[in-house]
Amino acid sequence: MTSFEIPIVVVSKCLGFDACRYNGEMLHDAVLEKLADYVRIITTCPEVEIGLGTPRDPIRIVEEGQQGLKLIQPATSKDVTGDMNRFSTDFLGSLSEVDGFILKSRSPSCALKDAKVFTGVEKAPVKGKGPGLFGFAVLEKYGHLAVEDEGRLKNYSIREHFLIKLFTLARFRQLKKASSHKALVEFQSQNKYLFMAYHQIQQKKLGKIIANLEQNSIKEVYRSYEQGLYELLERPATGQSNINVLFHILGYFKHSISAKEKAFFLSLIEKYRGMKVPLSSPLGVLKAWAVRFDNEYLMKQSYFEPYPEALVELLDSGKGRDLS
Ligand code: SF4
Repeated sequence: MTSFEIPIVVVSKCLGFDACRYNGEMLHDAVLEKLADYVRIITTCPEVEIGLGTPRDPIRIVEEGQQGLKLIQPATSKDVTGDMNRFSTDFLGSLSEVDGFILKSRSPSCALKDAKVFTGVEKAPVKGKGPGLFGFAVLEKYGHLAVEDEGRLKNYSIREHFLIKLFTLARFRQLKKASSHKALVEFQSQNKYLFMAYHQIQQKKLGKIIANLEQNSIKEVYRSYEQGLYELLERPATGQSNINVLFHILGYFKHSISAKEKAFFLSLIEKYRGMKVPLSSPLGVLKAWAVRFDNEYLMKQSYFEPYPEALVELLDSGKGRDLS
């Protein structure tokens, strides 16, 4: 059984941890409820932290003319922009270790991209959408980590990418503590096909950093590798790059399987290409062959299980297919 490092995730407190919404309610989120058994969660409610209390009059983001974004409570005319910015800087600066964030969508404080921006304090039209003030600070400081809102995580593909990134970064964070060259070589080797699916050029770049022809210090090697890893995991693997990797792995068995088995596998790849089956279908066949032919190198590949299997949930909202 694969063992996983426990990721550290900062979560908006109203997503199942406290009835701290402006109206005194708490939300329930199925993804977070399941994830909670596999990660360490740090919760925060920025609006409560800056002293607004619960329940409270709602706040909104306002941009009047060229004055920049402000966070205003219309019922009291209170401007809490400075308080929210100070809290964000202090809280994010206090995190010694973190791998990801799950924040509440549409909130003027926590949203990552879809909080309403109003043109005035009272009865003014909406001029667009953007991150909340705390969400903006998270993206500025930690945008390279696994960062999503609970709404987008209802989409299967977005959730898959988030979980892969989260568990890969958590493992690297642990690795960094020992700063061993041997452990880094092993990490790169076990992630070979996952990284190939994500970004083949970047995967080779990471290999060169480990080869360390410039004879940099181990600290410098880890620093460059970490930067390269963030770039590799920035965007999800595409269907075509997954197909390339499936063919690479098939190569291990070309002299061991029958013509019928090969034809069956190729038909599965075509079904995956046509989005008739998930990636787990052809992957399951390859994993079974790795076990049958006792290929230890392949059995250790994170590509077969990049995060705990219990978190695989095929349900999909069908919304938020934009992976950008
Ligand atoms: S969205 Fe953020 S600020 Fe609003 S209640 Fe939830 S945790 Fe608090």
